Amino acid sequence: MQIFSRWKQEWNAAWEHIQEQIYNLSSEGKKTWHGLGYLFEQARATNGLRFNFGNARLIEDNQAIAPQPRLVMSETVFRELLYYMRRFRGEGQVMGFIDVHKDNAFIVSELVIPPHTAGPASADLDQDKFPFWLESLVESGKDVTKLRMQGHSHGDIASYFSAEDIDTIREEYACDWMVSVVGNRLGIFHARLDIYRPIPISISLPMFVENLTTYAEPNEILAWSSKLEDTQTGELIETVELSHKGRNNGKF
Ligand SMILES: [Zn+2]
Repeated sequence: MQIFSRWKQEWNAAWEHIQEQIYNLSSEGKKTWHGLGYLFEQARATNGLRFNFGNARLIEDNQAIAPQPRLVMSETVFRELLYYMRRFRGEGQVMGFIDVHKDNAFIVSELVIPPHTAGPASADLDQDKFPFWLESLVESGKDVTKLRMQGHSHGDIASYFSAEDIDTIREEYACDWMVSVVGNRLGIFHARLDIYRPIPISISLPMFVENLTTYAEPNEILAWSSKLEDTQTGELIETVELSHKGRNNGKF
């Protein structure tokens, strides 16, 4: 078989070159394996002897075993989330119940405000009240195993996961997966899915809102406002606007 013998020849030549490189490496110590690049075109030496073949990325569409994960909210849930983000003067917290659909849609069904103290650059859960708060959710018939969205606001500053946020995500959730959302008063959101077990992995999540409008009914404002003021301690903005258009001129 000619092809095989030719391949063998090429491989032998390549192998000799590799051995030469190894020899150079051991004799000179400092040489890296950049010379192997001709063999593996897609490889890059990222750190001395360490070769990098490609990058991690989410495999999409029919190449994947499941559709891409995404965070989905009804427009009502989204407007409620935006309302809270607009009313927190500094940081503030909001949690959400999530239903996971078979097609990997992470659907936020309901928002709740955990007991916390909000400051200009921090929002700390009230550790004493939190277990009782969870209990009261159970008593009212909620499935707290679905309480998988942890959201917080950055108030008037940029919306991004800070080093402190990432430390919290890395160390403080006692569950196998969690969705984190960060937003600000401008209504800029970022979401991520962190899976702790069986394999630790972090994925940036796109957020979808169905049939988005930006107004609020007076009864909605009343309900959201009392939810917020029941459990949150900290400075709130009295009146906020959701947008400049809409049925009630966006006034909350
Ligand atoms: Zn943050």
